[in-house]
Amino acid sequence: MARYTGPVCRLCRREGIKLYLKGDRCFSEKCAIDKRPYAPGQHGQGRKRNSEYGQQLREKQKARRYYGVLEGQFERYYEEASRRRGVTGETLLELLESRLDNVVYRLGMAASRKEARQLVRHGHFSVNGRRVDIPSYLVREGDVVALREKSREAGRVKELIELLSSRTIPAWLQLDAENLSGTVLRKPAREEIDTPVEEQMIIEHYSR
Ligand code: SF4
Repeated sequence: MARYTGPVCRLCRREGIKLYLKGDRCFSEKCAIDKRPYAPGQHGQGRKRNSEYGQQLREKQKARRYYGVLEGQFERYYEEASRRRGVTGETLLELLESRLDNVVYRLGMAASRKEARQLVRHGHFSVNGRRVDIPSYLVREGDVVALREKSREAGRVKELIELLSSRTIPAWLQLDAENLSGTVLRKPAREEIDTPVEEQMIIEHYSR
Protein backbone atom coordinates (compact mmCIF):
# COMPACT_ATOMS: atom_id res chain seq x y z
CA MET A 1 0.00 0.00 0.00
CA ALA A 2 1.80 3.08 -1.23
CA ARG A 3 2.00 6.26 0.81
CA TYR A 4 3.92 9.51 0.81
CA THR A 5 7.10 9.19 2.88
CA GLY A 6 8.82 12.54 2.18
CA PRO A 7 9.04 15.58 4.49
CA VAL A 8 5.52 16.61 5.44
CA CYS A 9 6.05 20.18 6.65
CA ARG A 10 7.18 20.98 3.13
CA LEU A 11 3.68 20.09 1.95
CA CYS A 12 2.11 22.68 4.27
CA ARG A 13 4.60 25.31 3.16
CA ARG A 14 3.90 24.45 -0.48
CA GLU A 15 0.14 24.90 0.04
CA GLY A 16 0.60 27.97 2.23
CA ILE A 17 -1.62 26.66 5.05
CA LYS A 18 -1.40 24.33 8.01
CA LEU A 19 -2.47 20.85 6.97
CA TYR A 20 -1.98 19.45 10.50
CA LEU A 21 0.07 16.46 9.39
CA LYS A 22 2.26 16.16 12.49
CA GLY A 23 -0.12 16.03 15.40
CA ASP A 24 0.84 18.04 18.49
CA ARG A 25 3.81 19.67 16.78
CA CYS A 26 1.39 21.53 14.49
CA PHE A 27 0.08 23.42 17.53
CA SER A 28 3.51 24.24 18.90
CA GLU A 29 5.98 26.99 18.09
CA LYS A 30 8.01 24.41 16.18
CA CYS A 31 5.51 24.43 13.31
CA ALA A 32 7.52 25.03 10.13
CA ILE A 33 4.89 27.19 8.45
CA ASP A 34 4.95 29.63 11.38
CA LYS A 35 8.72 29.86 11.16
CA ARG A 36 9.01 29.97 7.37
CA PRO A 37 5.69 31.06 5.86
CA TYR A 38 6.71 30.75 2.23
CA ALA A 39 6.98 27.92 -0.30
CA PRO A 40 9.97 25.57 0.02
CA GLY A 41 12.88 25.47 -2.39
CA GLN A 42 15.17 27.97 -4.07
CA HIS A 43 12.33 29.97 -5.63
CA GLY A 44 9.94 29.67 -2.70
CA GLN A 45 10.03 33.40 -1.97
CA GLY A 46 9.87 34.45 -5.60
CA ARG A 47 6.95 35.81 -7.60
CA LYS A 48 3.87 33.58 -7.58
CA ARG A 49 2.06 32.78 -10.80
CA ASN A 50 -1.64 32.54 -10.24
CA SER A 51 -3.25 31.07 -13.35
CA GLU A 52 -6.69 29.47 -13.16
CA TYR A 53 -5.14 26.10 -13.82
CA GLY A 54 -2.56 26.71 -11.08
CA GLN A 55 -5.26 27.54 -8.53
CA GLN A 56 -7.29 24.46 -9.40
CA LEU A 57 -4.20 22.28 -9.19
CA ARG A 58 -3.30 23.71 -5.77
CA GLU A 59 -6.81 22.99 -4.41
CA LYS A 60 -6.58 19.42 -5.61
CA GLN A 61 -3.11 18.94 -4.12
CA LYS A 62 -4.19 20.54 -0.85
CA ALA A 63 -7.14 18.13 -0.46
CA ARG A 64 -5.00 15.15 -1.44
CA ARG A 65 -2.31 16.04 1.08
CA TYR A 66 -4.79 16.89 3.81
CA TYR A 67 -6.19 13.37 3.67
CA GLY A 68 -2.86 11.69 2.84
CA VAL A 69 -4.07 10.18 -0.42
CA LEU A 70 -1.88 9.54 -3.47
CA GLU A 71 -2.73 10.83 -6.93
CA GLY A 72 -4.21 7.65 -8.47
CA GLN A 73 -6.42 6.95 -5.49
CA PHE A 74 -7.59 10.55 -5.33
CA GLU A 75 -8.60 10.37 -8.97
CA ARG A 76 -10.57 7.21 -8.24
CA TYR A 77 -12.43 9.08 -5.47
CA TYR A 78 -13.27 11.80 -7.99
CA GLU A 79 -14.53 9.20 -10.50
CA GLU A 80 -16.65 7.54 -7.82
CA ALA A 81 -18.03 10.92 -6.70
CA SER A 82 -18.97 11.87 -10.25
CA ARG A 83 -20.81 8.55 -10.68
CA ARG A 84 -22.89 9.12 -7.55
CA ARG A 85 -25.97 11.32 -7.29
CA GLY A 86 -25.64 14.78 -5.76
CA VAL A 87 -23.09 17.55 -5.93
CA THR A 88 -19.82 15.96 -7.07
CA GLY A 89 -17.54 18.18 -4.97
CA GLU A 90 -19.49 17.52 -1.79
CA THR A 91 -19.65 13.79 -2.51
CA LEU A 92 -15.87 13.80 -3.03
CA LEU A 93 -15.32 15.31 0.41
CA GLU A 94 -17.85 12.94 1.91
CA LEU A 95 -15.93 9.95 0.52
CA LEU A 96 -12.63 11.28 1.86
CA GLU A 97 -14.19 11.92 5.28
CA SER A 98 -15.57 8.37 5.36
CA ARG A 99 -12.12 6.79 5.19
CA LEU A 100 -11.44 4.75 8.30
CA ASP A 101 -8.17 6.57 9.07
CA ASN A 102 -9.98 9.92 8.91
CA VAL A 103 -12.78 8.68 11.18
CA VAL A 104 -10.25 7.43 13.75
CA TYR A 105 -8.59 10.86 13.65
CA ARG A 106 -11.90 12.74 13.85
CA LEU A 107 -12.88 10.63 16.87
CA GLY A 108 -9.72 11.88 18.56
CA MET A 109 -8.13 8.44 18.75
CA ALA A 110 -5.01 9.61 16.91
CA ALA A 111 -3.10 12.91 16.90
CA SER A 112 -2.98 13.13 13.10
CA ARG A 113 -4.35 11.29 10.07
CA LYS A 114 -0.88 9.88 9.53
CA GLU A 115 -0.88 8.35 12.99
CA ALA A 116 -4.45 7.12 12.51
CA ARG A 117 -3.37 5.44 9.32
CA GLN A 118 -0.53 3.67 11.10
CA LEU A 119 -2.74 2.53 13.99
CA VAL A 120 -5.28 1.13 11.52
CA ARG A 121 -2.55 -0.61 9.49
CA HIS A 122 -1.29 -2.24 12.68
CA GLY A 123 -4.73 -3.72 13.30
CA HIS A 124 -5.70 -1.73 16.40
CA PHE A 125 -9.25 -1.00 15.21
CA SER A 126 -12.38 -2.93 14.43
CA VAL A 127 -15.51 -1.96 12.53
CA ASN A 128 -18.70 -3.58 13.80
CA GLY A 129 -16.63 -6.04 15.81
CA ARG A 130 -14.38 -7.17 12.96
CA ARG A 131 -10.73 -6.21 12.71
CA VAL A 132 -10.11 -3.86 9.78
CA ASP A 133 -6.55 -2.85 8.86
CA ILE A 134 -7.30 -0.95 5.65
CA PRO A 135 -6.98 2.85 6.15
CA SER A 136 -9.06 3.56 3.02
CA TYR A 137 -11.97 1.40 4.23
CA LEU A 138 -15.13 3.49 3.82
CA VAL A 139 -17.39 3.55 6.87
CA ARG A 140 -21.15 3.79 6.54
CA GLU A 141 -24.01 5.12 8.58
CA GLY A 142 -24.45 3.04 11.74
CA ASP A 143 -20.93 1.55 11.70
CA VAL A 144 -19.18 1.28 15.06
CA VAL A 145 -15.43 1.88 15.00
CA ALA A 146 -13.68 0.63 18.14
CA LEU A 147 -10.22 0.33 19.57
CA ARG A 148 -9.63 -3.40 19.93
CA GLU A 149 -9.48 -4.82 23.44
CA LYS A 150 -5.91 -6.07 23.20
CA SER A 151 -4.64 -2.78 21.77
CA ARG A 152 -5.70 -0.73 24.78
CA GLU A 153 -2.55 -1.42 26.75
CA ALA A 154 -0.09 -0.27 24.06
CA GLY A 155 2.00 2.71 25.29
CA ARG A 156 1.09 5.28 22.65
CA VAL A 157 -2.54 4.18 22.63
CA LYS A 158 -2.73 4.79 26.41
CA GLU A 159 -1.43 8.34 25.89
CA LEU A 160 -4.06 8.96 23.22
CA ILE A 161 -6.85 7.62 25.44
CA GLU A 162 -5.90 10.14 28.13
CA LEU A 163 -6.30 12.98 25.63
CA LEU A 164 -9.67 11.78 24.33
CA SER A 165 -11.84 14.08 26.45
CA SER A 166 -10.04 17.19 25.13
CA ARG A 167 -10.96 16.53 21.48
CA THR A 168 -13.85 18.11 19.60
CA ILE A 169 -15.86 15.48 17.76
CA PRO A 170 -17.88 16.43 14.65
CA ALA A 171 -21.66 16.08 14.99
CA TRP A 172 -21.92 13.24 12.46
CA LEU A 173 -19.86 11.01 14.78
CA GLN A 174 -20.58 9.98 18.35
CA LEU A 175 -17.78 9.07 20.69
CA ASP A 176 -18.23 6.54 23.48
CA ALA A 177 -15.13 7.36 25.51
CA GLU A 178 -15.85 4.68 28.09
CA ASN A 179 -15.90 1.87 25.55
CA LEU A 180 -13.31 3.54 23.31
CA SER A 181 -15.54 3.39 20.29
CA GLY A 182 -17.37 5.74 17.98
CA THR A 183 -20.53 5.47 15.92
CA VAL A 184 -21.09 6.96 12.49
CA LEU A 185 -24.46 8.65 12.99
CA ARG A 186 -24.86 9.82 9.39
CA LYS A 187 -22.98 11.11 6.38
CA PRO A 188 -21.18 14.38 7.08
CA ALA A 189 -22.88 17.49 5.72
CA ARG A 190 -20.63 19.93 3.85
CA GLU A 191 -20.82 22.53 6.61
CA GLU A 192 -19.57 19.92 9.09
CA ILE A 193 -16.40 19.31 7.09
CA ASP A 194 -13.75 21.86 8.04
CA THR A 195 -11.32 20.87 5.28
CA PRO A 196 -9.96 24.18 3.92
CA VAL A 197 -10.54 23.48 0.22
CA GLU A 198 -12.76 24.80 -2.51
CA GLU A 199 -13.99 21.49 -3.85
CA GLN A 200 -15.55 23.08 -6.93
CA MET A 201 -12.07 23.99 -8.15
CA ILE A 202 -11.01 20.36 -7.81
CA ILE A 203 -13.93 19.29 -9.97
CA GLU A 204 -13.01 21.95 -12.54
CA HIS A 205 -9.44 20.66 -12.51
CA TYR A 206 -10.55 17.14 -13.40
CA SER A 207 -13.15 18.34 -15.92
CA ARG A 208 -10.59 20.16 -18.10
FE1 SF4 B 1 2.21 21.52 8.78
FE2 SF4 B 1 2.15 20.50 11.21
FE3 SF4 B 1 4.49 20.76 9.93
FE4 SF4 B 1 3.16 22.89 10.88
S1 SF4 B 1 4.09 21.24 12.07
S2 SF4 B 1 4.10 22.73 8.88
S3 SF4 B 1 1.00 22.30 10.48
S4 SF4 B 1 2.79 19.44 9.36
